[in-house]
Amino acid sequence: MLLTVTTTHQPATDLGYLLHKHPDRVQEFTQSFGTVTVLYPEATVQRCTVALLLDVDPVRLARSRGRNAPDFSLAQYVNDRSYAASSLLSVAMADVFSTARSGRCDSRQELADSAIPLEIEVPVLPCRGGPAIAHRLFEPLGWTVEAEPVALDDAFPEWGDSRYVRLRLSGVVRLADALNQLHVLLPVLDESKHYWQGPDEVDKLLRSGEGWLTTHPDADLITRRYLGRRGALTRVALARLAELGDEVEEAVEPAEDEEALQPAEKRVPLNAQRHDAVHRVLLELGARSVIDLGCGPGQFLARLVQTPSFTRVAGSDVSTRSLQHASRRLHLDRMSERQAERVQLFQGALTYEDDRYAGFDAAVLMEVVEHVDASRLAALEHVVFGAARPGAVVVTTPNAEYNVLYDDLVGMRHPDHRFEWTRAELAEWSEHVGSTYGYAVELHGVGDVDDTWGSPTQMAVFTRAEGSDD
Ligand code: SAH
Repeated sequence: MLLTVTTTHQPATDLGYLLHKHPDRVQEFTQSFGTVTVLYPEATVQRCTVALLLDVDPVRLARSRGRNAPDFSLAQYVNDRSYAASSLLSVAMADVFSTARSGRCDSRQELADSAIPLEIEVPVLPCRGGPAIAHRLFEPLGWTVEAEPVALDDAFPEWGDSRYVRLRLSGVVRLADALNQLHVLLPVLDESKHYWQGPDEVDKLLRSGEGWLTTHPDADLITRRYLGRRGALTRVALARLAELGDEVEEAVEPAEDEEALQPAEKRVPLNAQRHDAVHRVLLELGARSVIDLGCGPGQFLARLVQTPSFTRVAGSDVSTRSLQHASRRLHLDRMSERQAERVQLFQGALTYEDDRYAGFDAAVLMEVVEHVDASRLAALEHVVFGAARPGAVVVTTPNAEYNVLYDDLVGMRHPDHRFEWTRAELAEWSEHVGSTYGYAVELHGVGDVDDTWGSPTQMAVFTRAEGSDD
């Protein structure tokens, strides 16, 4: 199995820094199912290509899993694994280039953060659904896709095409994104994930999908195929994608094999319900100026901007990548001057005082507090409630009690959550913050109510007590 990545970004040999693999060396890495060799067939200033070769050892592959592994059979020994790119290549690539996938590169951080010209080639890729599906999955991510079917036998064209394609992608993409996209999409195209999956597969998928999966028009198809049609896992993943707050309206359509588990009526995604609830509260409060603190990729911000009664709208986040997404979503570059005056977007950490947070009728902290270390929460409370002091603060956060209703959810709803509160814990925190900073608080549930466990999301609405300021 072979995969090559080429760049023409000069000096092209910097690819070695980005991948943490020296262009002059041939390196071998042992995997439980075979050996990976990384080498550079071409390494000049103009053009540099890295090749990742995976040599699968079918015997080791079979032994690396117990007899109880779900697909223990002769097929483990007699199959196309040694020749065709597949989930194994994806796993090997993810492992060997793990630092590159995280986007970290101490010696070339700026380059690691930049989109650079890339060409990726996988000469033999199992692709269920043929070239069309390769186009459909990679094109929305900005790639130019060439996918040629590989003939069953060149000598007998009448036999037709095999289920393999030769895939060539070219585009200007951040290397970490490209590697993460391949890591997810190669097994998705193969659709026969032969690797054993645990519940942490969902975490892995969400981590690899960060920044591109939630906005992909085929997010549901990708999630379903990646998780190998394991209904329960897929459901958790889709719920959590919805939690991440991007467009996944399509993604919550239940799969055929899950229909029995889902109520017949079409559900409104949780993030949409959350947006509705907070939007309604802001209107009821009569807020004119609103700041969305920790706005992420700006989905709720877009909703605020579309509401004419909000005369000033701001969004801030600590993540510059999220802000780039938000800026694109809001078309900030194409806004009329009048609109642009109404909308501000800026980078900032909520644990540091910042004058730009001040002067708003209302602030929103939607699904943000649980991303802040418990030890830094007091700093955030001071910055928001003590220093910025908006007229109202609307906080939403997961209700930890509700998690028992997500089958197969192990741990918290998102790998970056530092904690998730029960209803009593949110009540206690809200009480403490309200009394320290002079805010009255009301608590609400958002989303479908379970008699025992409450709603999936909880919301605290703080209003500044009369006379506590100015
Ligand atoms: N409010 C958005 C995004 C929630 S995800 C929504 O509901 O869809 C949490 C966001 O909080 C992320 O975008 C993260 O970058 C941001 N965040 C986490 N810690 C932060 C901090 N200390 N300061 C500012 N933003 C922070």
